[in-house]
Amino acid sequence: MAGQSAPEVVRLRHNGVALEVAVVRSSARHASYALQVLEGGEAIVRVPLRTPKRDVQTFVESKAAWLAAALERVAARPPVEEPGDMDGAIIPIWGVDHTIKVLLAIGRPRPKVTVDDTKLAVMVGIMDAPGRVIARWLAAQAVPRLRALVDQWSPAVGVSPGAVLVREQKTRWGSCAHDGSIRFNWRLALLDPWVVEGVVVHELCHLLEANHGPAFWEHVVRAQPDHMARRKRLREIEKAGLPNLL
Ligand SMILES: [Zn+2]
Repeated sequence: MAGQSAPEVVRLRHNGVALEVAVVRSSARHASYALQVLEGGEAIVRVPLRTPKRDVQTFVESKAAWLAAALERVAARPPVEEPGDMDGAIIPIWGVDHTIKVLLAIGRPRPKVTVDDTKLAVMVGIMDAPGRVIARWLAAQAVPRLRALVDQWSPAVGVSPGAVLVREQKTRWGSCAHDGSIRFNWRLALLDPWVVEGVVVHELCHLLEANHGPAFWEHVVRAQPDHMARRKRLREIEKAGLPNLL
């Protein structure tokens, strides 16, 4: 909101260290007290709209030890692949760029991910790795989407696959088992669906041919005539590198 007055803050001292917490008042019906340390090192306290300043101060002071420890941890983080770097990072989800917002919650909360068209917010405790939480969430979201793509492309290939599983695989995008089940790499969730469909058809064709011989590629191109363009795009993405969440 433009033109609002100076932000409200609560100041306190803990073990001789001066701490400052920004106050965010919420008019939401079920607004409650919550203290958070953002990845940038800023502390905020959310309170119901009409909470007396004195009560806000008392609440923050009751959490002073947690607050001091959380601020210290954020400040002490090493710079590489740590949550501090994750905040503000941009990751493509099914080919659409999303900006990550990391929120640190008090205590040991159940990590939570919320997403809209352009943003992904992850709320974690001080001991959680945001990247890992996001990766787990993407993997869970990927299961129904990959299942739908498998069902969509199976008739064109002429196969009836079994279970569709999503796993953390280091090198491969997918693999098939003798029972007809297909395992996919959760990192497919970071690719454009058009490219993912290429991987899906590749794996479906392995249910017909276990190798990469001429017969295999005939199946692939028959089912998906523009397959080689999708495969080329996948190689380009591999070369450029995907965001490293783990
Ligand atoms: Zn293959």
